Amino acid sequence: MKITFPHMGSPLIYTKLFELLGHEVIVPPKPTQKTINLGVKYSPEFACFPLKVLLGTYLEAIEMGADTIVSSGGNGPCRAGYYGEVHQRLIRNMGLDIDFIIFDELKRDYKGFINKLKKLKGQHSWFDLYKIVKTAYKMAVSTDKVKKFIEHKRPYISDKKKLNKVKLAIEDQYREIKTEQDIVRVEEYAFKILKGLDIEEKTGAEKLKIGIVGEIYVVMESGINFNLAELLNDFGVEVEMSHYISEWIQENLIPFVSHEKEIMKKAEDYIETIIGGHAKQNVGHIVDYKERGFDGIVHLKPFGCLPELVTQSILDKISDDLDLPILSLSIDEQMATANVMTRIEAFIDMIKQKKYKRSSDHERHVFGY
Ligand code: SF4
Repeated sequence: MKITFPHMGSPLIYTKLFELLGHEVIVPPKPTQKTINLGVKYSPEFACFPLKVLLGTYLEAIEMGADTIVSSGGNGPCRAGYYGEVHQRLIRNMGLDIDFIIFDELKRDYKGFINKLKKLKGQHSWFDLYKIVKTAYKMAVSTDKVKKFIEHKRPYISDKKKLNKVKLAIEDQYREIKTEQDIVRVEEYAFKILKGLDIEEKTGAEKLKIGIVGEIYVVMESGINFNLAELLNDFGVEVEMSHYISEWIQENLIPFVSHEKEIMKKAEDYIETIIGGHAKQNVGHIVDYKERGFDGIVHLKPFGCLPELVTQSILDKISDDLDLPILSLSIDEQMATANVMTRIEAFIDMIKQKKYKRSSDHERHVFGY
């Protein structure tokens, strides 16, 4: 099998997982305008934006030689649950003979889930599979630790070129990992060189922190969110995102270590039931960021996303209640970088003024409708 998968954030973890299982991996390219154009061309117009970009990614990976696509299904009242089926039909209608392995929730189809695992594990024993999945999970936790450190410290590192080189060196080391012991060694190496950089941290009113919330794919995939985390870092702002791959694994595969329930509780005043996607979690994260002293929120909503449309409709109230500025950006194929830059810059200026002056006005702070 020549396996590919969705590009969502860093492809390191999935690549490692399939490599350790002995498969040939076709690493999907990071989404670009070409990917978006391809996806838009062959998708139904009304489909939500991530479906289109993922289709584009699959088509590019197929062009590179992939014959099998592995992905997860979705659950709850949102279209992600149909993605596998829709992508499969669209690709087969184009005359491409591609195998799909879509992992839906275990409780939805227990037998099917096990059969798909069997197919992926090949000659490996179940214990081997457990060890490999555990290694991939630990690697996800470790890379996310490094990612969070960079998202917090990057605004204070003046030599960005050096930081980028360091990041590439760290990624190369993670790529070579084979065992859990290797992860410990690489993580130590990563923090040693990162902490060795010249970091001049700001304090007090000069320190700005923004939380990025929204639909999981557009939050995690920098190729379609204008590299938002780095963009904010470049404006001198620390960021944290509502979604990281290790947390997604915890929520979906090992719920007893997930903090999702606590986060969802914080959303109760605004959204009582689960309405699909991560809408409830995102609102919980906004409340959590406020409690943790963040200065503002950027909310990302892909075109055609119903759960995040609901979130967007209550942002005004949340912003007023919490006295927290929120910028809502709708992401689609028409969105231009210059437009995003201008709005981000204006938003940061406003946060700075608010933080410095601590004015007592009651103006609304939600932007982007
Ligand atoms: S969460 Fe939104 S964008 Fe994602 S699959 Fe569901 S409807 Fe589409």
